[in-house]
Amino acid sequence: MIDTRTSPTPAFVPADYKARFKVPCAPDDELSDSHHQEWYAGTGIRPADHPLAGHIWFSGCGACGSDDVLVIAAQWCVSWHSGDAYWDYEIACNACGTFTRRSFCEND
Ligand SMILES: [Zn+2]
Repeated sequence: MIDTRTSPTPAFVPADYKARFKVPCAPDDELSDSHHQEWYAGTGIRPADHPLAGHIWFSGCGACGSDDVLVIAAQWCVSWHSGDAYWDYEIACNACGTFTRRSFCEND
C-alpha cells in the first residue's frame, strides 16, 4: 500500500534545497546516513529521468494531480531477510507548489 502526504514545505530535504543542492539528482550521503538507506536528492529531476525510475512507481502531485512534477528526494531498497521492497520519494509540483511524499512497503 502507498501512503501519500502533501505539505507546503519539503519533508525529506531542507526548505532551501534549491540553493543547497548543486545538481538535479545525485546520491545523498546525509540522507543515506540518517535513514540507513541509499538516498538520492537534488534540485529536482523528471520522474522518468530518475535513476530509480525502474523501481519506484512515480506518479503526479497529490494535491492537484498535475504530472508537471520534479523528484527532489527518493530511496528504494529491498529487505535482506524478507525480500520485500520499500521506497519513499518526494516531489515538488510546478503547477501548485505543493510537495507530495509517498512511501511504499511491499508487505503492507
Ligand atoms: Zn500540484
